[in-house]
Amino acid sequence: MLRIGCHLSVSKGFAAMGREALSIGANTFQYFSRNPRGGSAKALDQRDIEEFLELAAQNDIKNILAHAPYTLNACAADEGLRRFAKETMLDDLRRMEYLPGNCYNFHPGSHVKQGVDTGIAYITEMLNDILWPGMHTTVLLETMAGKGSEVGRTFEELRRIIDGVELNGYLGVCLDTCHIWEAGYDIVNDLDGILKEFDSVIGLERLKGIHLNDSKNPMSAHKDRHEKLGEGSLGRETIEAVINHPYLKGLPFYLETPNDLDGYRMEIALAKELYRG
Ligand code: FE
Ligand code: FE
Ligand code: ZN
Repeated sequence: MLRIGCHLSVSKGFAAMGREALSIGANTFQYFSRNPRGGSAKALDQRDIEEFLELAAQNDIKNILAHAPYTLNACAADEGLRRFAKETMLDDLRRMEYLPGNCYNFHPGSHVKQGVDTGIAYITEMLNDILWPGMHTTVLLETMAGKGSEVGRTFEELRRIIDGVELNGYLGVCLDTCHIWEAGYDIVNDLDGILKEFDSVIGLERLKGIHLNDSKNPMSAHKDRHEKLGEGSLGRETIEAVINHPYLKGLPFYLETPNDLDGYRMEIALAKELYRG
């Protein structure tokens, strides 16, 4: 069975997201842990959480993925910005304890002019500060397109972050198909080779989710522009190959394509059509 969903708005709460997911044929979803521009998170509503957990159990909704605000920068040069990223993520992770067994995805950050080594050092330092033994969430590093000075454009950079973190049993990776293509990994012509490379550099057991996006740009563009499934430079065949790749079987797929809810409903139907059990 294909585990697939899309990015949903958290504004009406978890039970509402669960119902919305079901209404478009999804059995999972992603949401922003708080306003993507930063800001404070809404107070947790225990009744809403309970209602959601019941709905999820009844309808086999699993692998909920929280996405950190993309404006957080764990490797900013400014110490205040780094502290803000750390405190925000720690607060998010504490709240996620109410939804145990799920994942929290974040963009490693942009090192700006400090260089990638300094960037990686700051990111590992933050993770060493916020992860705790016994936590019930897996924290995912997202593969990035390499826009500007983004850290995480290569598998090796993600490996170095993982290696620097003491409690790295709580770390995994979320692979974004648009991002790795724009980072320079040729998944159109050599998906198999790229996934083998992922396995040898990071390890497939770290891969916990796929952001399933087409791209508006050619390979190595480093721009990060998502496109609707089958309508971009990856194309329908590559999307089909990704969904059906034996290495990726059983992983949750999350759409972050430019769509409204109806568009997502159609893409989920398309993905199910392309999926060969
Ligand atoms: Fe992302
Ligand atoms: Fe993504
Ligand atoms: Zn993106």
